[in-house]
Amino acid sequence: MYTGYIPEYLPTSDIAQALGVPPGDPLLLESLAQGYAMELEYARILQQENEVKLLNARKQRPKKYKCPHCQVGFSNNGQLKGHIRIHTGERPFKCDDKNCGKTFTRNEELTRHKRIHSGVRPYPCQTCGKKFGRRDHLKKHTRTHYIQAERMMPVFVPF
Ligand SMILES: [Zn+2]
Ligand SMILES: [Zn+2]
Ligand SMILES: [Zn+2]
Repeated sequence: MYTGYIPEYLPTSDIAQALGVPPGDPLLLESLAQGYAMELEYARILQQENEVKLLNARKQRPKKYKCPHCQVGFSNNGQLKGHIRIHTGERPFKCDDKNCGKTFTRNEELTRHKRIHSGVRPYPCQTCGKKFGRRDHLKKHTRTHYIQAERMMPVFVPF
């Protein structure tokens, strides 16, 4: 009577034939069959993983704007335009201050540069209150205080 039981492993005789071993040793065949089944299971898991990867890749936003110079993809044209300037050396952001006319590849760079002219000094010295337009200038200045402090330190003289 058919019980609906589906064998977990392929018939050992088939595997013996597939692997080219004589079907005389049932223990050997049994272990071979198990190994075979494990490989099948492993292949099934790998396939599942690949399907998940493919699905995830499809979910990601397509980067249809490709740079003609280096093939890097961008999801919008603005990003691509900004990137292409790296290759072309184009500097569309020009300082409108008289006698300056410096050009920049990015708007942020121009904004930072303009502080030189506008006198905006957002970095005050914590020690003397002197203000600086750039963080690195403040840093350089702060160091002069340290050097002064070192000079003022009493020198320890052993007797
Ligand atoms: Zn590029
Ligand atoms: Zn300028
Ligand atoms: Zn200072």
